[in-house]
Formats: sequence, structure tokens, C-alpha cells
Amino acid sequence: MKLQDDRKGQFSLGGVGASPGIAIGRAFIVGQKRVKVKKRDLAPGDVPGERERFKAAVEAVGSYLDSLIRKMPEQIRDHAAILRSHIQLLKDRLLYDNTLNRIETERVNAEWALKGSLEEVKALFDQVDDPYLRERIEDVEYVIKRILAELTESKGFSLDSLKEPVIVIAHELSPADTIQLDQEKVLGFATDVGSRTSHAAILARSLGIPAVVGLEDVTDHVVQGETVILDGIAGRVIVDPDQETLDKYREKQQCYLRYRLDVIHKSHLPAETVDGQRIMVKANIELLEEIPLVLSNGAEGVGLFRTEYLYLSQKGLPDEETLFQTYRQIAEKLAPHPVTIRTLDIGGDKFVSDISLDEEINPALGLRAIRLLLREPELFRTQLRAILRASAYGSVRVLFPLISGRSEIREAKKMLARVRQELEAEGTPFGPEIKVGIMIEVPTAIMVADSLAKEVDFFSLGTNDLIQYSLAIDRINEHVAHLYEPLHPGVLRMIHMAVEAAHNNRIEAAICGEMAGEPMYIPILVGLGLDELSMNAIDIPRVKRIIRQVTHEECAELTQQVLKASSSREVREMLMQFLHERLSGEFDPALGLKPDLDGGHICPV
Ligand code: PEP
Ligand code: MG
Repeated sequence: MKLQDDRKGQFSLGGVGASPGIAIGRAFIVGQKRVKVKKRDLAPGDVPGERERFKAAVEAVGSYLDSLIRKMPEQIRDHAAILRSHIQLLKDRLLYDNTLNRIETERVNAEWALKGSLEEVKALFDQVDDPYLRERIEDVEYVIKRILAELTESKGFSLDSLKEPVIVIAHELSPADTIQLDQEKVLGFATDVGSRTSHAAILARSLGIPAVVGLEDVTDHVVQGETVILDGIAGRVIVDPDQETLDKYREKQQCYLRYRLDVIHKSHLPAETVDGQRIMVKANIELLEEIPLVLSNGAEGVGLFRTEYLYLSQKGLPDEETLFQTYRQIAEKLAPHPVTIRTLDIGGDKFVSDISLDEEINPALGLRAIRLLLREPELFRTQLRAILRASAYGSVRVLFPLISGRSEIREAKKMLARVRQELEAEGTPFGPEIKVGIMIEVPTAIMVADSLAKEVDFFSLGTNDLIQYSLAIDRINEHVAHLYEPLHPGVLRMIHMAVEAAHNNRIEAAICGEMAGEPMYIPILVGLGLDELSMNAIDIPRVKRIIRQVTHEECAELTQQVLKASSSREVREMLMQFLHERLSGEFDPALGLKPDLDGGHICPV
């Protein structure tokens, strides 16, 4: 908890800004922290009845989720898949069968048995390093809490009776809870738990409801009906604000609304510099449900579809049909815009329980991504078949991760050609010309980029990994996070080399690492000549807006300078001066947005 004493009675809590915007209103506290579970030993004769009680609770939760899916508002209908995955989880072997077995063998009540199952699943998830995948334990927890609520008959909260618009304060909101939030009545929400990638956060952004999550203990500090300010830009909740603070935030709210309207209004304009350089701006996604946000924010397609989530969100490995249906839906929803589907980038810090990998001392340098796919041809083949089949329904491109040299790309292409022949022989339709690209994220790939460019149709620079491997910084180790430096001249020179190699061979160069969505880096990326930038959908309007304010010529000049710099500090100084001279309005602190070059991010104030 980060509790700061402001002046007088007011105080503020810091969390994660999950959905931007400012809300001011009365607090409405919902839900309880957790359902208390007590152990009850059963007489042998009570076991069958207890098993039936558990089954009935699971059935009831299934029907409840089903009814929610049917009632979902049009605008968020695409998020139904989350609830469907929860319905599937209800019958997951680790939850369902395991709990029934525990009731039988341990002779304990259903609640206690279910708690035991949860602990077992948690222990499995604890071995995962990747924060995104680790968070999916949330889904298991939501489902278990629903079953527990059903078993203990503890009523869930209802927002039906709200008379006036409020700010919802909760320990956490499940996707089912979030889907029921009525935009008319809910001005914003704040929760103890959660992160930017939790479902509640993604849904809040789709619904346009400001949200702050991960506040740790906001439910302990806010009183029902108290006035609160929720700042979804800065990730802050101010409780019981004084008049001066209220006035300041009302102004910030107006300022933000004007700014947002302007940004959104222009987000569908092409990203073209003042002197006519066109750059494609696309979105990175993990879920089908993100597509509405992608389109409403003005993306010109999906530049990176991370397919790992599909392998985690269900029991066992997904079969070809499941993959195909998802890829096809994405291709259809985006058409005529393209989607770039990356083949499975599993291993390293990304983990899937159904693919057994040996424990590795150094997983980031281990059997991951393309290396794993080439070792497991069936896994690779299934995914390629699904991708090729989806290419009959829209514009689909395929992207191979972690390519380090030519032999890997040739092997991958051989597999693609084999799958193509198979489909042809069967008479299964697929698109005539699927474009093939590689992730440039291993330094050796840059050194041989010229020969790699002759093999493929496009490069996509995975700067998250490229920086990790070139600076020897583990991207998930917080002790070296301060050394993770996208503006290192060595990194910029590598990007420059890759773009040059691509253009010399008349292929496109994109960036799909986090760097592409940082507004302050845009002048350098434009100057480096990138053809495409792919980022979190929420960052798109702002990035487009910056591209539309600069000339390619001035960016190229800046880039020539920074490429000669000998330290990131020098690069930062040059960039800061450029931003100050050319884009000071864009980073006006009055808008709540200012460049913070120390952290490397544009920070809301
Ligand atoms: C990258 O490495 O920059 C990238 C986009 O891929 P991921 O973050 O999924 O490894
Ligand atoms: Mg990567």
C-alpha cells in the first residue's frame, strides 16, 4: 500500500492506472474480501450427498454464466469468450474431478475439498515466471469463488439497485462482475487486486470506464458513500478530497476529456508525417476480445497476435479446429486489415502446463519459440495448418519467433511448404499468398539480416527480447531493470542495421516490442525508417497523433545524431530537446501527460 498524507483529511492511494480517465463521485463498496472456508469431516454416509451438493453448485454457476452471456451488451459481446472459458474451467479435471475425489478420499466438505484443489493448481502456476501467463490463475480463482459463493449461499453483489452514478470500490472484480457494470451508473472502479492485463482492466478499457487496480487495500480505507476521485491516468485514488483538490481534478477531467475527444476523433486518420511519410500503426493482441478496442482506436490491423494464450486458456493442447476458428474469427473481424499471427512462442519465460519441458538453468536461452517448434513438428504442423486455413478468410501473415540464423528460417519454411501441399492435396482452402515474416530479436539475426531478408517478406523487430539479449538484461528480473535501456545507442544502431537490410532487399520492417508504443520514442522510430509500428491498442491514437505532427526529414536528422551518440544519456538529451522544441504541446503537463525520460516512459502527472 502506498498511502500518502496529503493535506487536511484527504489522502491518496497509489495503484495501477488500468483504464484512463478521471471520475469523481461517491464510493460504493461491494463484495467481501474472501469467503471463509471451514473444514468439516464427513461421516461415510454423507459423502455421496456432498458430492451431489458440489455438482449442483457447479451446475448453478454454469447456468449463471450462461445467462450472463445471453444478456451481454452488444459492445462487449466479443468478451463472451472469457465467460465461456470459465464455463469450461468449471469441469476442468484439476478442479472438478480433483474436488470430487477429495470429498470421497479425505471425507471432507465440498468447500474444503475445493480449497485443496485450488492450492494444487496455484502451486503449478507458481512455477511460471511470465507475468501474463501467471495472471491466468485469476480465472481459476474467479471460478472457484463463484462455486464457493454458491456452496455457502453467500450472495454476490448487485449493482441493479443503484440510484445514482457511483465509483465502485471492490477487492476484485471478476469478468462476470465487470461485464455487468452499467456505464450510466458506474463512473469508474477501483480494486485492491489486479493489473493492466487482468480481464477487468481489459474490459474497463473496452467499456471506456476509468479504472485503478492493484491498490492493495483500497477497500480498507474508503467508507461507503464517501467522495472519491479516481484518476485512471495516474493510477491514483484520492479519498475525501478538499475543495481545492476537487477543483483541480474537475479541471483535469475536462482537460482530459477534450484531449481524448480530439485524439480519438483523429485516430482514424492515417499515420502520415507532415512531409508525406506513411507508417502503418497496428495493434498487439493476445485475445480475440481485444478486437473491438483495436478497431475503435484506429489500428490498421494486428501486427502481432501472441498465440500463447490459446494454449493456456483450456484443458490440453488446442486442436487444429479450435485454433482455426479463433484465427479465422480474427481475420474476418479485421478484414480488410491484415493480422500477423506469430507461431507459438512458448518456453523461456512463457510456460504451458500441457507441453512438458525439461527444467533449464537458463530458460531465456533455452528450448523456446522456433527451437521448440522445430523439435516438436506435430505442434508446429497443427498451428501452421490452422493459420493457413484461416488465411482463406482474410489477410493473414505468419511470423516466426526468435530466429537466429538462416537455417532456422529455411526449416520453418520447409514445414510451411509441406503443410501447404497437404492442404492442397486434401482440397482444403487457404489464401493464395501468405506473407512470411520473422521476429528479429536475437543479435545474430541483425548481423546476418541481409541474408535473412532474402528469405522472407517482412521483419518484425521484437525489441523486448532484442534489448534483453543484446544488453544481457533478464527482462523479468527487477534487479537489473534499471539497465534495460531502449535508447542505448547500441540498440538503436541494431534497429538501424535491420531496417537498412530490410529496405535494401525491398521488404518491410516493423517493430512490435513495447518500444513502438512509447510516444516519446516515435520521432526516432520515424527517423529510423520503420514501415510499421505495432503496440497495445490503447497507445495507438497518441502515437498516430505524434506521427502526424512531425516531418520525416526532421526525424531523420535527429536519428542521424542519436546514432552517433555514445551513451543513452546523450540520446535522451537530444531527444528531450527535440520533444521540447517540436512537440511541447503534446507533452503539456496540463493534459496530465509529461515525458519522464528517467523512467523511459511518458508518465501521467
Ligand atoms: C518482443 O520480444 O519484443 C516481442 C514483441 O515478443 P514477446 O514480448 O512476446 O517476447
Ligand atoms: Mg520476443
